[in-house]
Amino acid sequence: MMSSRLPRVKLNNGILMPLIGFGTYKIQGNDTVSMVLDAALAAGYRAIDTASVYKNEESIGACLSKLLPKYNLKRDDIFITSKLAPRDQGNGKCREAFQQSLSRLGLEYLDLYLIHWPGSSDMKPQDKRNRELRQQSWYEMESLIGEGKVKAIGISNYHPQHLKELLGYCKIRPAVLQNEHHPHLIQKEVMDLCFANNIHYQAYSSLGTSAKDNPVLSDPVIQKIAEKYEKSVAQILLRWAVQHDVGIIPKSTNPEHIADNCKVFDFQLSAEDLDKIDLLNKQHHYCWNASEVF
Ligand code: NDP
Repeated sequence: MMSSRLPRVKLNNGILMPLIGFGTYKIQGNDTVSMVLDAALAAGYRAIDTASVYKNEESIGACLSKLLPKYNLKRDDIFITSKLAPRDQGNGKCREAFQQSLSRLGLEYLDLYLIHWPGSSDMKPQDKRNRELRQQSWYEMESLIGEGKVKAIGISNYHPQHLKELLGYCKIRPAVLQNEHHPHLIQKEVMDLCFANNIHYQAYSSLGTSAKDNPVLSDPVIQKIAEKYEKSVAQILLRWAVQHDVGIIPKSTNPEHIADNCKVFDFQLSAEDLDKIDLLNKQHHYCWNASEVF
């Protein structure tokens, strides 16, 4: 893989993954996707996070194949994550959905494939069959690893009960758990399970989601810390995550923000300021909450 100045983390299967990736939820259409990916590659991002439900895999694939030569990059210089949609859980459907994502992206392999959500859209959250379906999906994903179609597999939106259950039957341990994570939502129990089992914890919605005036970006405690370090609030939020060994995938459609968000590896928050931010936790999900999924 061609080096980038941005750090990478070694996953539990030995694969290296950039600690910062570019989030693409709600970014659609070839023109917008091309503009943001161009800005992201120029800034040094080498990982892209997408999902079947984001309906942008086709645009990402088409734009990447045009942009990679501009930056003298090859496929294996880029780390691409996609996710299994809740409607595609279970035997046969998971494999088929994976192939469709791969073909929309125009790729021969994915770097990381995640179960997007522990439930299935065909079932009510309390339906016990959710458990069976996600187990079937996991076994299919393990076979995709064996076939070399994906380098690493993981999960997303898993609560402690979902992760403990998976650890009880998996033959391949998940490499990554991607969960909502910011100072208003620190899911300590599941994070500790990940650290204990060498599963990389990756934050989504680190900046509090794309909601206008979201309460994370406008938190006065973080704003004050940002003034002290002469950084943006977004940079403080992202730095706080990486200093706790949590991966980040910030999303932006503003090229200045895209560049600023990866400038978080050349300064340190003091232990005191990290503690101040940790104390803001109020267990508040601004995005999804799968706690009720059986
Ligand atoms: P983020 O928490 O990353 O926040 C995005 C918002 O922050 C946008 O409104 C953006 O506005 C703003 N922003 C970005 N940078 C800055 C900056 N430097 N200064 C001020 N504002 C800034 O949003 P997401 O919820 O999209 O999460 C990130 C990624 O995580 C997603 O795109 C997706 O890839 C993944 N995700 C995964 C989920 C899952 O279920 N697994 C669920 C949700 C997200 P602007 O465009 O103006 O910069």
